[in-house]
Amino acid sequence: MEKHQRIVNNVLELIGDTPLIRLNKITQHLSGQFLVKYEGYNPGHSMKDRIALHIVEEAERRGVLKKGSTVIETTSGNTGFSVAMVCLIKGYNCILAVNSKASEGKIGMLKAMGAKVYVCPAHVSADDPRSYYEVAKRLHAETADSVYINQYFNSLNSESHYLSTGPEIWEQTEGKVTHVVVASGTGGTISGVGKYLKEKNPNIKVLGVDAYGSLLKKFHETKELDTNELYPYRIEGLGKNLIPSATNFEVIDVFEKVKDEDAAHRARELAVSEGLFTGYTSGAVLQATMQYADKGYFDKDSMVVLVLPDHGSRYMEKIYSDEWMQEQGFFDSQKVSSGEVEYV
Ligand code: PMP
Repeated sequence: MEKHQRIVNNVLELIGDTPLIRLNKITQHLSGQFLVKYEGYNPGHSMKDRIALHIVEEAERRGVLKKGSTVIETTSGNTGFSVAMVCLIKGYNCILAVNSKASEGKIGMLKAMGAKVYVCPAHVSADDPRSYYEVAKRLHAETADSVYINQYFNSLNSESHYLSTGPEIWEQTEGKVTHVVVASGTGGTISGVGKYLKEKNPNIKVLGVDAYGSLLKKFHETKELDTNELYPYRIEGLGKNLIPSATNFEVIDVFEKVKDEDAAHRARELAVSEGLFTGYTSGAVLQATMQYADKGYFDKDSMVVLVLPDHGSRYMEKIYSDEWMQEQGFFDSQKVSSGEVEYV
């Protein structure tokens, strides 16, 4: 595999081919095998590296991008970092429009990767000219030879997972995978992975993960937009308050919703039990897997692949902060013990 060459030409060659790691402790009491696809292993620390690279390279193939062209996206999170990284290596300008809720740390990370960051007011409607959507659209319209990634509404998002993540899971399990558990935000990962695996074997079950406070599960079941389902929640990147066209609901068998508190504890548990330092949505994926297990989805012949979207380093001020957990009231009923600090 190219990944194991001694010298790679640049970080982009390290995107994808992430490892599949067996869970040894957390799922010991369950029937079946449980394997995690650890996307924090990508050079930009999340699965968004895959979509950033694919969308930019498609634009190159179409002749839209030339040296010095500009790539634009609306995000403070993983996608922004990945797009900035791809642009740095390929010699494009990167503009990211983020909302003012993004922490200074996150904005600093994007800046460190050479991006030009526009911080837009958070509490304006999406159609307000100051919103980050509108700012991105305007900059795209005003900038010649620019590409707008637009991950929620871009079919190349799921195509990147159809071409990479899906085949990797199939090959790594030698076609033995029976279930995948995947978080849905834009829906790119679950749609691409789900489509590929179901084409290989229609019996594979594609199990979605949604958040309490998001519309996706209800929409999947009823095809109706029920805004009663909407309320604020803390897990970033999971669920949505609109229906992204990047999601192919037909390849998803079922959704399970998870609570902020449970997902946070599960992420901490992945760290201290399995040595896997992952993000908030990885905890959500593990929690959903436990809920699916309780509902009888798995048996001794199951080979379950959990896609863990990103690395834990981006969550030090949230789920890995005891103070933050305390403030949320997440320690009221349960506490997974982590390490200790003693000042000498
Ligand atoms: N986890 C994290 C941390 C994310 O940033 C995202 C992207 N919004 C997701 C999960 C969901 O992945 P997707 O957008 O492919 O549905």
